[in-house]
Amino acid sequence: MSTAYDVVILGAGIVGAACALECARAGMTVAVIEKNAVASGATGAAMGHVVITDDSPAQFALTKYSQSLWGALAPELPLSVEYYRPGTIWIAADEEEMAEARRKFDNFTEQGVPCETLDSDALAAAEPNLRRPLTGGLLVPNDAVVHAQSAAEYLMAEARKLGASLITGHAVTNASYGRLYLDDGTMLPTGILINAAGAFSPELTPGIPIRKRKGHLILTDRYPGYVNHQLVELGYLKSAHSSDGDSVAFNIQPRISGQLLIGSSRQYDADEPGVDQHILRAMMDRATLYMPGLPSLTALRSWTGFRAATPDKLPLIGPTEDPTVFLATGHEGLGITTSLGTARLLVDHLLGRRTAIPIDPYLPSRIKTLQETR
Ligand SMILES: Cc1cc2nc3c(=O)[nH]c(=O)nc-3n(C[C@H](O)[C@H](O)[C@H](O)COP(=O)(O)OP(=O)(O)OC[C@H]3O[C@@H](n4cnc5c(N)ncnc54)[C@H](O)[C@@H]3O)c2cc1C
Repeated sequence: MSTAYDVVILGAGIVGAACALECARAGMTVAVIEKNAVASGATGAAMGHVVITDDSPAQFALTKYSQSLWGALAPELPLSVEYYRPGTIWIAADEEEMAEARRKFDNFTEQGVPCETLDSDALAAAEPNLRRPLTGGLLVPNDAVVHAQSAAEYLMAEARKLGASLITGHAVTNASYGRLYLDDGTMLPTGILINAAGAFSPELTPGIPIRKRKGHLILTDRYPGYVNHQLVELGYLKSAHSSDGDSVAFNIQPRISGQLLIGSSRQYDADEPGVDQHILRAMMDRATLYMPGLPSLTALRSWTGFRAATPDKLPLIGPTEDPTVFLATGHEGLGITTSLGTARLLVDHLLGRRTAIPIDPYLPSRIKTLQETR
C-alpha cells in the first residue's frame, strides 16, 4: 500500500505546527489533521511566556534549548506574534521563597543563564505597583513572551509554504500501524504518525499517562507601564505545581498592546470548559495580595484551556511500541516555550541526526515506570 504522506501530524496546536515545520524543512511530505482550527486547544488559551524553568535538570535543558530556538527565530517572526523580551521576575514573599530565588540564581548562573537577585527595594523600583514590602526576587532578563495563537499560525503557514497540507474540521478517530481514520470514514495510509493532540492525545494513543489540567486566564484593558516584566510568585512552585487539588498562583504578563494577562489556576478532574467563577475570584484574590491596585482595572474577558499533564512534569517525545506512532505531547504549562525544542528533537531523532540535547528524559519508553509510580 503506498502512503499518501511521509508524516501525518494529529493536532494543529503549537506543538503540531512546530513539528510540521521541522518535518517540511527536512524534506518530508507532511499533513496536519486538526478537528477544529489551528491553535483551538490549549495553545489558543495560553499566556505565551517563553520561560526557562528548573524543576528538574531535564525541564531546564528543554526550556533553555527551546528558548534559544525562539531567540534564533525572533528576527523572522511577524509583528503579529508579538515576540518581545520583558524578562521574568520570580517574586519572593518570604525568606523561604528568597532562598529558592538564590538557589535558582546559583543554578541559572552556573548554566549560563543571565539573572540577578533583587532585594526588596530593587523589586519595588522595578515594579512600583507591587505591594510593599516584598522580600525580593530573581530577575531573568532574557525570558520572552509571544502571542501563542499567532505563533502557531505562523509556524503552520511556514510549513504550508514548504508544501505541508493542513486538513481542518476533521477529527482523527484512530491512528495506528500506519493507518489513520478520519471521522468521515476516510482512511489515509501514512508512514509516520505524530500524536500532537495535547490533552486529547490519550484518545488517539490509549494508555499514555496524561491528565487534563484546566487553567483560567483573565485579560484586562490596556494599562501600558502598569507591569514591566512577567511576574510570577515563587509560591507558584509550592502551590501550583506540587498539589493534586485545585490551586491558584499569581502570574501576570504585560502584553505589547498594554493589556495584562492575569493567571493562573490549575485543576484536575474539571473537564467542563466553562469559566468557574469561584476560581476566577480565587485568582483575583491571590493577585490582589501581590498587586493591591488590580481590582480597579477593567477586565475584558476570561477563558479556560486544558494542559496535558504527565506525572513527572516532562513531555512525551519520541517513538512508542507501535513503530509508526510517535508522541509529541504532555507539555503541561510549558508547551509554548518547549514547542520548538520538541519539534527539533523529534525530527533529529527520526532522521537519526545528533540531537542538541539528550532526548532520553522525554522518551515515551519511560511510560511503564511512570504508570508504576501513579
Ligand atoms: C491557562 C494556560 C496558560 C498557559 N500559559 C503558558 C505559558 O505562558 N507558556 C507556556 O510555555 N505554556 C503555557 N501553557 C501551556 C501551553 O498552552 C500548552 O502546553 C501548549 O499549548 C500545548 O500545545 P499542543 O499543541 O501540544 O496542544 P494543543 O494546543 O491543545 O493542540 C492540540 C490540538 O489537537 C487537536 N485535536 C485533539 N484531538 C484531535 C483529534 N482526534 N483529531 C484531530 N485533532 C485533534 C485539538 O483541537 C488541538 O488544536 C498554558 C496553558 C494554559 C491552559
